[in-house]
Amino acid sequence: MGTQLSSVDIAVIGAGPAGLTAASAVVERDPLASVLVLETASRPGGHAVTTVADGYTFEHGPASIRSLTPEVLAMLERVGLGDRIEEAAASGANAAVWRRGRLHPVPTGLVSAATTGMLSARGKARILAEPVLGRKGPGADETVDEFVRRRFGREAARVLVGAIVQGITGGDARSTGLEAFAPGLWQLDQVAGSGSLAITALRQRRAQRRAAEPAQRVAPAQPVQPVQPVQPVQPVQPAQPARSGPITVRRGGLNAMIDALAAYLGHRLVRGFDACSVTPISTDPAGCRFEITDGTGRRVRTRTVVLAVPARVAARLLASKAPQLAAVLDTIGYTDMRVLGLGYPTKAFRTAPPSFGFLSPPGEGLDIMGVSVSSGVFEGQAPPGRTLLRVFAGGAFSPGMVDASTEAALARAARDLRRVLTVSARPEFVRDVVLRQAIPQYGRRHAETVRQLDRLLLELPGLRLTGNSYRGVGLKDTISEAERLGRSLAGAGRQARPGPAGGEDHHARHQ
Ligand SMILES: Cc1cc2nc3c(=O)[nH]c(=O)nc-3n(C[C@H](O)[C@H](O)[C@H](O)COP(=O)(O)OP(=O)(O)OC[C@H]3O[C@@H](n4cnc5c(N)ncnc54)[C@H](O)[C@@H]3O)c2cc1C
Repeated sequence: MGTQLSSVDIAVIGAGPAGLTAASAVVERDPLASVLVLETASRPGGHAVTTVADGYTFEHGPASIRSLTPEVLAMLERVGLGDRIEEAAASGANAAVWRRGRLHPVPTGLVSAATTGMLSARGKARILAEPVLGRKGPGADETVDEFVRRRFGREAARVLVGAIVQGITGGDARSTGLEAFAPGLWQLDQVAGSGSLAITALRQRRAQRRAAEPAQRVAPAQPVQPVQPVQPVQPVQPAQPARSGPITVRRGGLNAMIDALAAYLGHRLVRGFDACSVTPISTDPAGCRFEITDGTGRRVRTRTVVLAVPARVAARLLASKAPQLAAVLDTIGYTDMRVLGLGYPTKAFRTAPPSFGFLSPPGEGLDIMGVSVSSGVFEGQAPPGRTLLRVFAGGAFSPGMVDASTEAALARAARDLRRVLTVSARPEFVRDVVLRQAIPQYGRRHAETVRQLDRLLLELPGLRLTGNSYRGVGLKDTISEAERLGRSLAGAGRQARPGPAGGEDHHARHQ
């Protein structure tokens, strides 16, 4: 790309999983659309980076997609990975929580919940007393911690839910907004009102089961209608049902997904384009509504611009021409993370680690916030006889672990691993990744912030936001939303295509 003007139907800024997915969905549905994906780095993928070395497959950032939604499946099939989907061998049910100097398996049923040593007798009694003691909430702007304390008590909030929020976002449940972090739970709480959350959940589940039953019972009994084509007997389902456990891509991990998306987009992916401003324009003959510039004077004009960058970057791009939108975007904060990849001979562990890993609730005396056992979750991520750990540190509770040198961070992690996972050998595989401003933090008012952004976007037709800053921090939500956005943009307005005399088609011109 030279220093002059390109002109396209759709420009996506940011080639992380969101931007790549949205662009690929447009291209599949509307192959004639001119689409460019502008990425500042030399490689696409954002936080999705995989190192494959010495027989280990180490994911620097995301390691799995929490479940296979129809949208995720559609994207993987589009890029030719439908037959390489690998389901996890372990799930959250195989995880443990570090509490009072011991690992406790995550309770998976009533009996294990009643007998777990993870919570005190009082803490467990308070959970069970939810139908009596649970109270109605304020309806909006409540944090996850406040919600759990109101319904299930203080200990459940700190130990169970504090660990989960920290494990997913690196953040603090006391400042994480319930509606944005767990919209399903927030809705359930609204329905339950002053009644019991647990009983409302049971009723809803029963009602859903009943709603599904008649179709299942009646369909097989329907008389055969010889003159009609055979009707399917199952209740209506998406073309491919979503699978519920975590997934990755066999052979290559999430890098393989990024590479396949990049290959699918081909020349439409422009690397090394560090966007520095997005300016609304009104006088373009081809009907473009925005001009994007980078630091070297390159310009791209487009009818639709999709900002698939973190909200703080979107704020910077829009600061001078859409200051109100930029100011709201800038309220979304981020936390830093450190991920250590450590590979050991399996026999170095005196006791086998929980196959999914463990979480450490804030305040339990560890420098690390948890460990994922990569080789337990997905087969083949470590050589035979070896165990690969991903050790997470930093976040809201131990920022010092991000600033520490590699040696210091490794030493502190080694101390915790000796204590929790009974491993004192030196790892034979070591990788250290520091990720600044890695994960967006959905604050108390995040859901309202997103609604405010939606309202402000109405004033800038053609400008769209996607990515994990808004409606879900993980890949499942990020990819699903980007896929739906891409589909909705396909065919939503092309540049006028001049006749042969015009000498130009509407595809991106790289001058
Ligand atoms: C340590 C860690 C572990 C995680 N683990 C999981 C997990 O196991 N499962 C899961 O589902 N999720 C996980 N996540 C979350 C997951 O990484 C995100 O959901 C996902 O990366 C978000 O994708 P995105 O496209 O929105 O943003 P990003 O991945 O941040 O991509 C944004 C892209 O925009 C580019 N960009 C930025 N500025 C500019 C600019 N000015 N011009 C052009 N391009 C620009 C960036 O280079 C980048 O490529 C984890 C995250 C971290 C940090």
